[in-house]
Amino acid sequence: MNKKLEEIINNNRKYVQEGLVASYIPELAKANKDHLAVHIFDVNCNENYFGDVDVKFTIQSVSKVITLICALLDKGEDQVFEKVGTEPSSDAFNSIARLETRASHIPLNPFINAGAIVTTALINGDNGYEKFERVRNLIRKMADNDSIDVNYNVYNSEKLTGNTNRALAYYLKGAGIICDGVEDILDAYFKLCSLEVTARDIAKIASVLANKGVAPWSNERIIGVDHTRIVLAIMTTCGLYDSSGNFAVKVGMPSKSGVGGCIMSVAPKKMGVCVFGPALDQSGNSMAGKMVLEEVSKELDLSIF
Ligand code: GLN
Repeated sequence: MNKKLEEIINNNRKYVQEGLVASYIPELAKANKDHLAVHIFDVNCNENYFGDVDVKFTIQSVSKVITLICALLDKGEDQVFEKVGTEPSSDAFNSIARLETRASHIPLNPFINAGAIVTTALINGDNGYEKFERVRNLIRKMADNDSIDVNYNVYNSEKLTGNTNRALAYYLKGAGIICDGVEDILDAYFKLCSLEVTARDIAKIASVLANKGVAPWSNERIIGVDHTRIVLAIMTTCGLYDSSGNFAVKVGMPSKSGVGGCIMSVAPKKMGVCVFGPALDQSGNSMAGKMVLEEVSKELDLSIF
């Protein structure tokens, strides 16, 4: 299969030219837009990969999946979905528009920035650092990698320039949807987005979701079956922001993207897949990465539809 992956990566390299690296977080603008990688980790612990798999990148919005899982563990389904919806959004990932116009003011879903700020606030912990540590520890456990940590250059860059996220968080506080200290929650959110990972880490996290919440390498249950089902459903409908519908048609795997250039995809009962390519399309999703996923999904018959 490595040979097949090599072919797929080479077929899709041309698409990196059609994308742009994220620049609204200045540190991310330093990424090499030519990087492209795919890593697969299946539920029997077989691994296949090709491309720039050793390159580290920041997890960015893929952390929103694990933050949601942690919020569900800490507060349960009812309390979480009182504060954040489960509906797709057709706006940009950092849009503020619908917070004001929707009667309830709650964010549409946990995978847009406003929603992830709410789920971060729901994590147990007396302060932002404790909340951050809880989610980081779950990320480490799901990736089976205790060395995952913050890239402080990216974190500082996000913190310095993250004024749109600040606007979202203060709006949510004003509307009474979050109660804790806004700067503290934002600090946890920025740190979680700045965790540095490899494609293998993300493929392993996805393999836990593919295996109904059980780590394939240890058979330890990390997430309940119900929580896994909820998270996969929201990944399917909201994981690629305002291009989730098109992605469902083309790829058909529950997925989550991040502006660091990675897309985490799950083939239930089969495998976790990570693609990485920092050149992004207009919605903030890896341009070549989504093309690679489309071919991988067709080749291995992974669409859930
Ligand atoms: N840290 C980024 C932000 O808050 C995450 C966005 C993303 O990956 N789509 O803007």
